[in-house]
Amino acid sequence: MTISQAAGNVCTVSALNTKKHQTANSVESEVIYLPSTDCAIKSQACLSAFTSYRVGGAADWYVAPRNLEALQASLKYAKERDLKVTTLGAGSNLLVSDRGITGLVIATRHLRFSNFDPDTGQLTVAAGESIPSLAWAAAELGWQGLEWAVGIPGTAGGAVVMNAGAHNSCIADMLVSAQVLSPDGTLETLTPEQLGYSYRTSLLQGGDRIVTQATLQLAPGADPAKVVAITKQHKKHRLSTQPYNFPSCGSVFRNPKPYSAGWLIEQTGLKGYQIGGAQVALLHANFIVNRGGAKASDIFCLIRHIQHQVQERWSINLEPEVKMLGEFQGAC
Ligand SMILES: Cc1cc2nc3c(=O)[nH]c(=O)nc-3n(C[C@H](O)[C@H](O)[C@H](O)COP(=O)(O)OP(=O)(O)OC[C@H]3O[C@@H](n4cnc5c(N)ncnc54)[C@H](O)[C@@H]3O)c2cc1C
Repeated sequence: MTISQAAGNVCTVSALNTKKHQTANSVESEVIYLPSTDCAIKSQACLSAFTSYRVGGAADWYVAPRNLEALQASLKYAKERDLKVTTLGAGSNLLVSDRGITGLVIATRHLRFSNFDPDTGQLTVAAGESIPSLAWAAAELGWQGLEWAVGIPGTAGGAVVMNAGAHNSCIADMLVSAQVLSPDGTLETLTPEQLGYSYRTSLLQGGDRIVTQATLQLAPGADPAKVVAITKQHKKHRLSTQPYNFPSCGSVFRNPKPYSAGWLIEQTGLKGYQIGGAQVALLHANFIVNRGGAKASDIFCLIRHIQHQVQERWSINLEPEVKMLGEFQGAC
């Protein structure tokens, strides 16, 4: 069953079943069960557990639907309450403010489905599928094409939106189509051309459409042992050149061609520079790592400091690749 076939009646938001809970820090939290779905919308849900930086405040409202019907019901709930919607994949490219996020955060992590079609060589996946798991699964089947993605700890939906890439490949190279859901509940299937891809960007960034599913063109029929070996090599290379031992969001800045952001930051003498618990990684200067106890404001202020220093030294404006969610005004 594909996720699109899971579309059905969207529950009405009247007659909602609600329960109140007291959290450990005495903040009253509420859980609302959307009828006809397994959708539980929670209030005051702490987001730090859902981001790879392990920082960030609470979402006013949070939901992690398990199918398209529940996703549509969540959107309908938001629309009827006039709540701003923010989509969260694996949270591996996000900096969530310590002050949290207003409105409804919809996490796609439970939208799971994958199908390797041997007739077409196409892999169709739901938005919440993990990219590294897909890379390993493809390799073990002897399907080439996703070896490069093994070190990218995001979801399929996040990869489509970000045009995730590594080792000179990216999602745009292999995307056949993406299914997206609009706030009014309508589904559309878009081609890569319609997504306006370029380096780590797509027209979906900053928009209000949610990627529900993607189809990728791969190349079946290779020796699984060889594809697994290349995948392992990529993973090994990543582990030796990038700091996977501390929470991070991967590369913080886009590379301002022809330079690499990491090289510029290193040449500016910022490797190891620290604000609170946030540090410019010693292994790779385009990573900011959470050395323990960092606040989102530490990371934010370090980003601003790096931008300022690199601008002073090189007259180059480093543009963040990390997406900042919530309010940061006055953080530094
Ligand atoms: C250690 C490490 C290494 C990394 N290496 C790389 C790398 O080599 N190459 C690379 O490109 N990236 C890399 N990243 C960054 C990150 O993994 C990618 O950008 C990834 O594609 C983000 O996916 P995600 O599911 O975590 O998205 P999130 O971080 O949750 O979200 C990213 C953006 O996409 C939006 N979004 C997410 N899912 C959806 C959806 N279903 N529909 C609509 N909008 C959505 C969010 O609102 C947000 O704006 C790395 C990160 C880490 C922590």
